[in-house]
Amino acid sequence: MIDDGVPDQLQCTNCLLPMQYQEKKDGKFLWQCFKCGKKYFVSQNIDDDMEESWSPPR
Ligand SMILES: [Zn+2]
Repeated sequence: MIDDGVPDQLQCTNCLLPMQYQEKKDGKFLWQCFKCGKKYFVSQNIDDDMEESWSPPR
């Protein structure tokens, strides 16, 4: 199975650590930093801006 459009790796702009791919949600790929809980929503459409959201670690 091919996951087209999933980036190989994302880096947390806060911790500069590699982020972990979580799931595909609403046509976007959710990545989360395991350390600080920062989330990125990367759209399949490469023309779209990358969204950033924050949820503190539990
Ligand atoms: Zn982080």
